[in-house]
Amino acid sequence: MIQSTLECPKCHSTMDRGYTLDQSHAAIFTGQWVQGTPKRSLMDLFGGFLIKSPNQKNRIPFGAYRCQSCGFLEFYAREEFRPKW
Ligand SMILES: [Zn+2]
Repeated sequence: MIQSTLECPKCHSTMDRGYTLDQSHAAIFTGQWVQGTPKRSLMDLFGGFLIKSPNQKNRIPFGAYRCQSCGFLEFYAREEFRPKW
């Protein structure tokens, strides 16, 4: 079950649930965690930052909690963070 708030492990203030944005030219995504090491794409013209698309079944969406006081971020990769309709 997703909690809407957590207690900050650094300063003990309230942390709010949120997510990160991953934006391209035509789409906006939420962050996804992938096990292993990224593989560089053969199409990479950007100095090693363009990677092969990992298999969909190996991707796990992640959510982030942000402390209202100190800004500390804590991430959790779980299926329950997958965007809903
Ligand atoms: Zn804090």
